[in-house]
Amino acid sequence: MTDMLLTNFALLDVAAGELRSGYQVLIRGNTIAAVEKGIDAAGVEVINFGGRTLMPGLIDCHVHIAPGAVLNQPKLSLSFTAARGVMWMRQMVHRGFTTARDAGGADAGYRKAVEARISVGPRLFVAGRAISQTGGHGDKRWPSEPACSCGESMSSLARIADGVPECRRAVRDELRMGANHIKVMAGGGVSSPSDSLSHLQYSDEELLAIVDEAARQNTYCMAHVYTARGIRRAVELGIRTIEHGNFLDDETAKVMAERNAFLVPTLVTYRVDGANGEKIGFTPEVIEKNNQVLEAGTRSLDIAARNGVNIAYGTDLAYSSKVHQPEEFLVRAEVQKPADILRSATLVGAEVIGMVGKLGVVAPGAFADLLVVDGNPLEDLGVLQNEGAKMAAIIKDGEFIKNQLVP
Ligand code: ZN
Ligand code: ZN
Repeated sequence: MTDMLLTNFALLDVAAGELRSGYQVLIRGNTIAAVEKGIDAAGVEVINFGGRTLMPGLIDCHVHIAPGAVLNQPKLSLSFTAARGVMWMRQMVHRGFTTARDAGGADAGYRKAVEARISVGPRLFVAGRAISQTGGHGDKRWPSEPACSCGESMSSLARIADGVPECRRAVRDELRMGANHIKVMAGGGVSSPSDSLSHLQYSDEELLAIVDEAARQNTYCMAHVYTARGIRRAVELGIRTIEHGNFLDDETAKVMAERNAFLVPTLVTYRVDGANGEKIGFTPEVIEKNNQVLEAGTRSLDIAARNGVNIAYGTDLAYSSKVHQPEEFLVRAEVQKPADILRSATLVGAEVIGMVGKLGVVAPGAFADLLVVDGNPLEDLGVLQNEGAKMAAIIKDGEFIKNQLVP
């Protein structure tokens, strides 16, 4: 890790939604030491970005690095899942996502492998296994399968816990194993065989216990939930981030805004899964549920934005190809301005993961996670597409992950 002075770029100020010229950035170790006009840094290596745009690395607040198999596909071994996860992490950081929050499946080992520089990947914030009730979104057994004692290990994405004591134990156990936050299935889901989307999962007492356990260990809960009723209940019981939330309404959005909750839409996944359903092994029932959330389209995003809800960037893509990860920018651009979407994928993401000032921003004291882009993302979100094709350089932790700058 050598110190670097970055010069000759337009700086994307995501907070203001503007490009600024004439600045230089000094990186010392893995940290941004200065962002000023005319830095005197004798003896430091000078890197010329040739007038390109310099911006903070992207944050995806809803990914799955280690999902299990789709319902009717053969189960996957842990070694296969881990090897595939390592490949996906490398691809993710090469498309500009220097930070990712796993929403169930990845344990602390993935994060530690990146931190130890064994694997190349985004900074990871993981949930371990999501917590689900019996018959909930994390219960992947077919209705024809009888109860078994294998609850904790039957899916790599989730674990089953019923009743307050089991819920408390599950949260404690995931945090013991190094989860950064807790994921709970608070409503029905698309890819689960025993529930409907409108199903409210977990009793109030159970959800309160889960939230309490997380809060006492200074962390928070993210909840998978679609319906307005389910979202409202989750937020009122103390859930901090709402995942998907496709059936959000105005009244519920107001409650979210009042309580400073976050919405993490994952709209791209329904479009891609909808187009590939059969190919990726979805059953007709799962395809039907996907159609229901797909039809809700960008409405939830529009409602959330109008009511001042904090919106973070999420993609999900648990089963479809992750090459579609940046297409969420294009989906959102149907109802939002590029500057707002860029804030979701940087500043708001940093708030979600508790890294304000450290990530999602080009400022002194922040980690040097930076993208060097050909073109202006405020005018054309296409520059973030196609596997980083327009990213001439990607810096993470003060080091080049990718460098195509001609010296
Ligand atoms: Zn979900
Ligand atoms: Zn998910």
